[in-house]
Amino acid sequence: MPDHALQKCILPECGATFGIEEVHHACPKCGNLLDVAYDWGRMPAPTHLPELTAQAPELDGWSSRSGVWRYRAMIDFAPDEALMSMGEGATQLRPSPGVAAYVGLAGKGRVECQYEGFNPSGSFKDNGMAGAFTHARMVGARTACCASTGNTSASLAAFASATRQMEAVVFIGRGKIALGKLSQALEYGARTVEIEGDFDDAMARVMEASKAEGLYLVNSVNPFRLEGQKTIMYRILEARGWRVPDWIVCPGGNLGNSSAFGKAYIELVELGLIRRPPRLAVINAEGAPTLSVLVNERNMKWNGGAPDMLLADARWKEMDEKHLNARTLASAIEINRPVNLTKCLRALEATDGVVRTVSDEEILDAKAVVGREGVGCEPASAASVAGARRLVEEGVIDRDAEVVCVLTGHALKAPNATVGYHAAEGSSERAYVEGYGVKGARFANRPVRAANDLDAILKALKATR
Ligand SMILES: *Cc1c(COP(=O)(O)O)cnc(C)c1O
Ligand SMILES: [Zn+2]
Repeated sequence: MPDHALQKCILPECGATFGIEEVHHACPKCGNLLDVAYDWGRMPAPTHLPELTAQAPELDGWSSRSGVWRYRAMIDFAPDEALMSMGEGATQLRPSPGVAAYVGLAGKGRVECQYEGFNPSGSFKDNGMAGAFTHARMVGARTACCASTGNTSASLAAFASATRQMEAVVFIGRGKIALGKLSQALEYGARTVEIEGDFDDAMARVMEASKAEGLYLVNSVNPFRLEGQKTIMYRILEARGWRVPDWIVCPGGNLGNSSAFGKAYIELVELGLIRRPPRLAVINAEGAPTLSVLVNERNMKWNGGAPDMLLADARWKEMDEKHLNARTLASAIEINRPVNLTKCLRALEATDGVVRTVSDEEILDAKAVVGREGVGCEPASAASVAGARRLVEEGVIDRDAEVVCVLTGHALKAPNATVGYHAAEGSSERAYVEGYGVKGARFANRPVRAANDLDAILKALKATR
């Protein structure tokens, strides 16, 4: 075990530390979250940004493409032989002029989209799973488990199979998972339990089951997962010739990504590798606005490491009493009680970040605009583009800013939402979208019907112009 890494409570006033080889879901002393912390002074830490890739290990076959272990210098908690990879993180940062125009940028303003849908299981979760499974193997875990709105289960199932020695157990809320994602968990062989309840119920139960049965939990309370997700930021920087953008915009669900992004920049500043991080914008769905309510209405802050947890407790109580339940078509962010709340608050403070909400309608319109770039994303991912648009409208993001939107998952994850948006009025898919109160479809690309006859087909073709 490397002796320059340990697990550390994120609250300075607790500050408890634990060995890398231990397994915890929370700080055993105070109950808050744990970080993986490094003693940079005892490591060959990078002295300028291009050195982030200087310690990339030689991996075999598909693992050699890993866009996670490429930045080993910044996620050095495991010996070489423990590193787990499926070739995750071979993703792309693409200039997206169509998105930039939609978002309202002009002049020098640019949008680049970071397509995390190119991961082996089709979402950014694979970055984190490379970290979590590496740790799982270090501690000799036999079964990994998670609660999931879909992509975590797909990623867990894929990685467990790839180890050829671990089993996967998945808890999902009944009826709360996109078909594309459920199909992956089943196909890759995860034992799948549909719970009568929503994601938050599944999350609470999986933590209990994990304790009771000694299952290795890979939800984003697992600090080793967030280490893997930091690398999304390193890839963006590397793709930009190590130039820091003005803004990073990402969707917020359980807030693992935003927390990991914040940690990545906090460490780069700590090491003197960058002077100022980009500003972080975390976008909630209007129907799942917990972070936005706490930050924008209740003024909850990281507060230099002393967040007022009573504000969160009061919100949970209020949500219970008023039966406020998350509901959005963007199922990956349909979450009531984000487990990484405090880490996300830390990220917001470190990056002068903001939080906004967007409607399902704005999400689907933004998704169609992203799709026109020829790649596409799932609904939750498009929240970042819809959010960027709002922030430009508000004047928070300057029109000539350099903005990176993180697109978290592949378009094929939720084909019913896509077809529902584009297909003709009255179809069953359309009804699916309308079930969520989505009426307009500004960028709908409707198919037209035609008789089995060339003239009729040519006529129909003209009608699609
Ligand atoms: C998990 C997921 C999210 C939410 O990310 P958090 O890190 O939980 O905030 C967003 N989009 C997609 C596609 C996801 O799979
Ligand atoms: Zn603690």
